[in-house]
Amino acid sequence: MTASETDRVTAAVQRLRHAGLRNTAARRAVLGQLAHAVGGRGHLTVTELHHALLARGVTVELSTVHRVLRQLVELGIAHTVPVGRTTTFGLADDAHHHAVCGACGDMRQLPDEAVDASIAAARAVGIDPDPAGQPSGVVVYGRCAVCRAATR
Ligand SMILES: [Zn+2]
Ligand SMILES: [Zn+2]
Repeated sequence: MTASETDRVTAAVQRLRHAGLRNTAARRAVLGQLAHAVGGRGHLTVTELHHALLARGVTVELSTVHRVLRQLVELGIAHTVPVGRTTTFGLADDAHHHAVCGACGDMRQLPDEAVDASIAAARAVGIDPDPAGQPSGVVVYGRCAVCRAATR
């Protein structure tokens, strides 16, 4: 894990503790994998997450991964983005929007300016964003370059 991944996991574990949840190996492993994804696509499906953990030698039941993710979402530590019929999970520790290829599921987190712009837009229509809330989760669906080339 990189230093920033470790920081993210530490901060998330802190929030779990505040919520009265213990810092279990399974929770730490799931958080570590989600933090690792931030540098890439940002989000993972439950299956991808489970396979990545098994590949790293972390023995954990799929049902446990499901349960941990549900807890993280309930606490606002993670959030979901639907891609096709599956749900992807990503850390919600910093506000971000998403651009998703609806054909292959490739995903990118959009730069901070996108979040700033949506906050400004909300203010402009008279809604002052909740400072405690994460103004993240806007999803723009489309086609990535690879999929556009394939259908040409
Ligand atoms: Zn996200
Ligand atoms: Zn694509």
